[in-house]
Amino acid sequence: MRLDKFLANMGYGSRKEVKTYVKKKKITVNNQVVRKADMHIEPEQDEIAYNGEIIEYKVYIYIMLNKPGGYLSATEDSKQMTVLDLIAERDKVLDPFPVGRLDKDTEGLLLLTNDGQLAHDLLSPSKHITKTYIAKLDRDISDHDVQLFEKGITLDGGYVTKPAGLRRIEDKEVEIKITEGKFHQIKRMFESLDNKVLYLKRVAMGNVQLDEDLKLGEYRELTKEEWQQLQ
Ligand code: URA
Repeated sequence: MRLDKFLANMGYGSRKEVKTYVKKKKITVNNQVVRKADMHIEPEQDEIAYNGEIIEYKVYIYIMLNKPGGYLSATEDSKQMTVLDLIAERDKVLDPFPVGRLDKDTEGLLLLTNDGQLAHDLLSPSKHITKTYIAKLDRDISDHDVQLFEKGITLDGGYVTKPAGLRRIEDKEVEIKITEGKFHQIKRMFESLDNKVLYLKRVAMGNVQLDEDLKLGEYRELTKEEWQQLQ
């Protein structure tokens, strides 16, 4: 691969910008200062550094975002802000996209990746990945509500949800565990119980928990362990 292409792909600016870094002797390949931006490199073998910092070669990116309300789970929209507006250019060059959707007003754990296979597997109904949410409700829940969640709730339109977990945390605040992802599923489940979701946040997908150190709008890459837990 050409060095300038590699650096552009890794988010180090356009090929033109890369040329100026080469002129300024900022780039080294295997500790040798680079003289030609179009030199040939082997990304998996050569050690390429910018300002002395080694550039990690990656093809895939796996991001954990603490999604704030007000952002669409999409890659682009002509009018509204999308979660991609929260991702730095350097990471955006790898073309991550959201794995599934959270509603515009829902907060919390959203995964983004450019690994189509992983995204497909995570969304596949047969995988039954458990998604855990915290909701604030208009009314407190009853034991009967908990039983209905376990049995399955008939949504508007007639669909009966798969067994789901409902646990009271405190007055009008609950934890929900679902294994499917129907449109507005949790809001519609509570509507069927004559209740209303006032606030919704996803806190886990499978065993991967939302990192509490991430403020709303912040993100980090998944650790290897987290990534493996999703396989
Ligand atoms: N259920 C909902 O109603 N909304 C979400 O964003 C996620 C699950």
